[in-house]
Amino acid sequence: MTRSISILGATGSVGASTLDLIRRNRGEWRVEALTAHSNVEELAKLCREFGASAAVIADEAHLGALKDALAGSGVEVSAGKSALCEAASRPVDIVMAAIVGCAGLGPVMAAIEQGTTVALANKEALVSAGEVMTAAVAKHGATLLPVDSEHNAIFQCLQGGKLAEVRSITLTASGGPLRTWSKQQLDAATPAQAIAHPNWDMGAKISVDSATMFNKGLELIEAHHLFPVGLDRIRIVVHPQSVIHSLVEYRDGSTLAQLGPSDMRVPIASCLAYPARMDTPMEPLDLASIGELTFQAPDEERFPATRLAREAAEAGGAAPGTLNAANEVAVAAFLAGNIPFSRIALMVESVLSEAELPSPPRTLEEVLRVDEDARRRANAMLETC
Ligand code: NAD
Ligand code: MG
Repeated sequence: MTRSISILGATGSVGASTLDLIRRNRGEWRVEALTAHSNVEELAKLCREFGASAAVIADEAHLGALKDALAGSGVEVSAGKSALCEAASRPVDIVMAAIVGCAGLGPVMAAIEQGTTVALANKEALVSAGEVMTAAVAKHGATLLPVDSEHNAIFQCLQGGKLAEVRSITLTASGGPLRTWSKQQLDAATPAQAIAHPNWDMGAKISVDSATMFNKGLELIEAHHLFPVGLDRIRIVVHPQSVIHSLVEYRDGSTLAQLGPSDMRVPIASCLAYPARMDTPMEPLDLASIGELTFQAPDEERFPATRLAREAAEAGGAAPGTLNAANEVAVAAFLAGNIPFSRIALMVESVLSEAELPSPPRTLEEVLRVDEDARRRANAMLETC
């Protein structure tokens, strides 16, 4: 039976991995909508290849170019934020939410409001919206399938027991490309060094997050919402080989882990086929050639991001959205060469502590206001540094 899919952020790293799996199983999928920020050429190419019904470009300045690129194709073309939400609310079997940043929140909520099954890669949306998103999922009978490899691993391990019987959840972290660097070396880390991830091939923003450990911090908050066992039961361990993607310990002392290659097509396939399984082009796991799996505690002196994220999660309310927005602004500034690497965490900490945070957001509009407020304060901080 054919299944239908829309992919938000189709031109990105997760979007490409999703489309690679669909390409290998062409007859089984119908592609409804594909979206991108500004890469008209790639979006048009993908829409033609997959026979998409609709193409949306987020940046309205590119609407004309997209219309030209898809002329005669029969693909419906639109642009802007409301067009993204319209694309996300089209009836499909699954929406892949693979936009980067809080920019993806509106479309994710639009899909949830239709009661759709959402494969969620866009962790920043869940970190910012928190309970507003989980409440909407419950209200509209939607399903969130975690794409993030750690959360997908936990989701799979939870098939082996009940959440109420979980003693702890352990998120593994590769530690990123700068894991062994001293504080002085970290100060001088360049964008090229920070995005050179040893195990995963990902978009620029998440690669920097991986180097600062904000990725793990965001994932801690993400796990807290997806698997509500209590923050004190969610741990982080550095595991440089990225073979074990996360673990769940039950009250009887059994710990279940999910292992696999560092390739996002594995967790994506698990979402696309859920609750069944599908083929992927992965080599069989060869533990003898991997040889060793090692583990160490995170160093929160050199990488304060996980501490900041835990504090923000404990504070709740506007704190996680503020942390996320400040991090997005700081990462963009670092990638543009405007601030040094170690300033990213300092900026996030300052934005979180500088002023009284807005009251806890209860609606999507309030979540977006928290996001805007934190961005404004982070940008003001950039002007003075
Ligand atoms: P990417 O930068 O490669 O792609 C992002 C996609 O979002 C692109 O299609 C881009 O056009 C679109 N986009 C960017 N800004 C936008 C905006 N303002 N409005 C609308 N669309 C916009 O990013 P990625 O690495 O594919 O990551 C996507 C999401 O998945 C992130 O939230 C990331 O944290 C998460 N994730 C990624 C990986 C990975 O391996 N890449 C793993 C786990 C989770
Ligand atoms: Mg992850």
